[in-house]
Amino acid sequence: MSRTSAESVAGKLGLAGPEDLLFHFPRRYEDRTRWLDPLTVGEDEWVLVRGTIEAPRAMRWRGGRGSFELTLRAPDDAYTIPLVWYNMPFLKQYLAAGRELIAYGRVSVSGNKRKLVHPEFELNTADDADIHMNRIVPVYPSTSGLSQRAIRQAVYALLFKDGARFPEIHPAPDGLAGLDEAMHGIHFPASFTQQEECRRRLAFDELFAMQVLLALRRREARQFAKTRAADRAPLREQFLRALPFTPTRAQTRVFAELDRDLAAPRPMNRLLQGDVGSGKTLVAAYAMLRALERGENAALLAPTETLAEQHYRNLRKLLEPLDVSVRIFTRNKKTGDAALFDRLRGIVYVGTHALFQDKVELENLGLGVIDEQHKFGVNQRRAFLAKGRHPDLLVMTATPIPRTLCLTLYGDLDVSVLDELPPGRKSIRTVLRAAEELPRVWSFIRREIAAGRRAYIVYPLLEESEKTDLKSVRAAYAEMQEIFGAGEVVMLHGKMEPDEKSVAMEQFRHGQRHVMVATSVIEVGVDVPSATMMVIEHAERFGLAQLHQLRGRVGRGAEQSYCVLVGDPKTPEGWQRLKIMEDTQDGFVLAEEDLKIRGPGNILGTEQSGLPPLRVANLGRDTQLLAQAREAGHQLITADPQLTKYPALRERLEKFRFTADPKGAN
Ligand code: ADP
Ligand code: MG
Repeated sequence: MSRTSAESVAGKLGLAGPEDLLFHFPRRYEDRTRWLDPLTVGEDEWVLVRGTIEAPRAMRWRGGRGSFELTLRAPDDAYTIPLVWYNMPFLKQYLAAGRELIAYGRVSVSGNKRKLVHPEFELNTADDADIHMNRIVPVYPSTSGLSQRAIRQAVYALLFKDGARFPEIHPAPDGLAGLDEAMHGIHFPASFTQQEECRRRLAFDELFAMQVLLALRRREARQFAKTRAADRAPLREQFLRALPFTPTRAQTRVFAELDRDLAAPRPMNRLLQGDVGSGKTLVAAYAMLRALERGENAALLAPTETLAEQHYRNLRKLLEPLDVSVRIFTRNKKTGDAALFDRLRGIVYVGTHALFQDKVELENLGLGVIDEQHKFGVNQRRAFLAKGRHPDLLVMTATPIPRTLCLTLYGDLDVSVLDELPPGRKSIRTVLRAAEELPRVWSFIRREIAAGRRAYIVYPLLEESEKTDLKSVRAAYAEMQEIFGAGEVVMLHGKMEPDEKSVAMEQFRHGQRHVMVATSVIEVGVDVPSATMMVIEHAERFGLAQLHQLRGRVGRGAEQSYCVLVGDPKTPEGWQRLKIMEDTQDGFVLAEEDLKIRGPGNILGTEQSGLPPLRVANLGRDTQLLAQAREAGHQLITADPQLTKYPALRERLEKFRFTADPKGAN
């Protein structure tokens, strides 16, 4: 029986089979040995209560909505408390008077009345009481139509009735729980202390798997020995002499790091982190010149057409005077030989994904640069590199990455940091505003426009949606035309055709239109120095790193710039989070906060990293485990790169493209 029910539960959760159910870890636990009295705890506290259902009653309001309410009477008449759910009339069928109920919810207080609104609940029955009661019970991520009870029962059966066993598949440091204990205890811990021990062991395994893969990638990337041609003619001096400014100290330091990499026999594999505006393009150009000096060509990959075109314009300015041909490849644009050169010193290709399509040939590619690299997946990175023979690689990101995360996701790369902005940057004044204050913001924008400056207004969604009452770009576009005049507003979003996008960008850049209503597509690569206003509506819907990126679109010229965050966070923490934007412009500080609040996946698109997921590891907290996993992972790969001694581990990692095959590396 247990197997079929486990199969059906796994199926409903979208998992491949019962084995995966055991890796479907609880999202929280309820201590069903401790019940709280909801009448004595503070307002808004979460309580776990149980009792008998009394007087279940469905109310109907006008317009088809309604609520369902009942009174819960605690054992021994300790207290009674109302429970209420809105728009869930079907609950009437299940929650009949006299039944035993367990509920978990937040105590809401109005006047001297208390109730639980929308608590999670479970009917308590005598069956399998030892699974669901008088212990710490797991609460799982679930889907509608699947009860906690059913999941819990299925997992319990697999673990304790079928007797699932988990033999060790790789070494783990002393002091951590065994894998078998951990897999049992993560679901049904005997205490919260044991739960944490079990979680730590599983977190170690997740981090370890990730580090082993990174060590393999690093090894793979380094195995090839490049023969580096002697420099032909120097371009870099000429280039630096022609610059209208002096490189910052940080840029100069990174130049030296690149020089060292590009003299070594193994291909360069470097991540360049630098906040918005720190001058990464210059560093990219420097690296590319180095390849050109040796008679190789270089390519720069960007995630959006807008950004590719901007790079194309900038690089032409910087490189064409040196007889370097800059060419662009995007979905709709392909320029070949716009400029003619007396003596061609090399080619720099700039483009979007179009750059690594099959039919495009990047002749003699010696070095590739990927801008905003977190917008690309591992496989795209590979496809790009496959255009050359082990080309040197520089990947760049403007999203500052906290150190722990960097070691985790980019453990296979060397890291350079531009921790300094070019001199003379004005700080951007950032303020939080409620939606009611928008009319004053619009007046302010009118004054800026009158002075020839420009404003961005950003929304989280392109279209209206049934599910939310967020304002969309499309709706706002119409509204802003009313407010500022139809001839003043352009719209930009990801669904537009490439030439529509270019037209909109150019109209805004050249000041035919002064207001741009956009989605977060403008987060990267939009560079209009006369834009001084960035208004972000529904700001609470964006991550801090993303808000920071958006804010980086202004403050690029000589004028004072402003960022207005318009929001309606529902919680004090939500306000607190936006407050940080007012207080700091340091991208690293914001990234650390984001990591704490939202976890790594949301910041960088972990799904794209091609690494195993982190389900229980917490990069904010598990730094010591991460260090241990890194150490152990590297040792293992040094000693046994084929994982011959650990076939089960090898098999588990296979699906993340285990590529330690020495043939593949040459
Ligand atoms: P990002 O790191 O965000 O890609 P960019 O490379 O676009 O930054 O540079 C932002 C702006 O700063 C550009 O207009 C660029 O010309 C300018 N810039 C870069 N380096 C310096 C410098 N050392 N001194 C002054 N301006 C600089
Ligand atoms: Mg840039």
